Amino acid sequence: MTERAAPFEERLKAQAYGVGFDLAGIAALGPMPTAPHYDEWLAAGYAGEMAFLTKRQRLRADSTRPVRGMRSALVVALDYGGRQPAGPFARYARGGDYHRLMWDRLDEVGTWLTAETGAKTRSFVDSGPVLERDLARQAGLGWFGKNTMLINPRLGSFFFLGALFTEAELAPDAPFADDRCGSCTRCLDACPTQAFVEPRVLDATRCISYLTIERRSDIPDRLQASIGEHLYGCDECQDVCPWNVRFATALKEPTFTASGLRAHADAGGVARALLAMSAEEYELEFGTSAVTRAPLERLQRNAAVVLRNTGGAP
Ligand code: SF4
Ligand code: SF4
Repeated sequence: MTERAAPFEERLKAQAYGVGFDLAGIAALGPMPTAPHYDEWLAAGYAGEMAFLTKRQRLRADSTRPVRGMRSALVVALDYGGRQPAGPFARYARGGDYHRLMWDRLDEVGTWLTAETGAKTRSFVDSGPVLERDLARQAGLGWFGKNTMLINPRLGSFFFLGALFTEAELAPDAPFADDRCGSCTRCLDACPTQAFVEPRVLDATRCISYLTIERRSDIPDRLQASIGEHLYGCDECQDVCPWNVRFATALKEPTFTASGLRAHADAGGVARALLAMSAEEYELEFGTSAVTRAPLERLQRNAAVVLRNTGGAP
């Protein structure tokens, strides 16, 4: 009996798993179902100072628009180890930057795809007007939790998303249709700043991730105590999620191993080190990490808040 070759889509996903991605699915490009909600969210002012989110809106509304001729997307996830203990830096930012790593891996898969089909590809990792989470749901990778994260029923939500767009017309996977949050409200209840306006609607201007990373001006007085010991980002609404409690995994990817100050749990000690840090030391400590999203002055602003919260006011 002759063996039949696996469908091209399965071989493509095998390439994605082969370069180290943890999830892979395929979506057809076209109008994005969440685009109208995204517009409403922006209009409500919930994006705060994140002007980059308001740009190129017309392109975001339909995933065929950012790159002419593209028809399908391979959507991938890369786990960053949700089992690591909580600490003053959000887990995703403790090791090397994920963008370059994911681009390189997506490009590797894209090279294979082009060699097989002749179709061009383009890799996206937070890098274009693309609603990646929406695409991931369409590709069957998970549902939108009430905490707004994409949740996968085998992995939880501690992973990065990326997408390889291609001109090839691929058979899409079935979208993830279920909502498996049920009556749970743990994430909404756990948020230290009550940043959820309602399930799946986040007022980013209240969210610690926004306040400690994106916000340029001072953190409002009324929210400073709620920042607690968070120096950079916050994982609390993911930590309490039963899907993470059960399925979050140990860190596998060496690039994301916590290094330097980001490996420490003592928020007060790290805050003091940040306040004493020079521009050169900042570059050495964080230069190859996602933390450079926040310049040193912003980290020092956060450090002053954390020191007050931990009783060691500067
Ligand atoms: S990241 Fe933290 S502050 Fe932001 S919504 Fe989740 S729990 Fe709230
Ligand atoms: S904590 Fe509960 S409500 Fe929130 S995302 Fe997880 S399952 Fe959904």
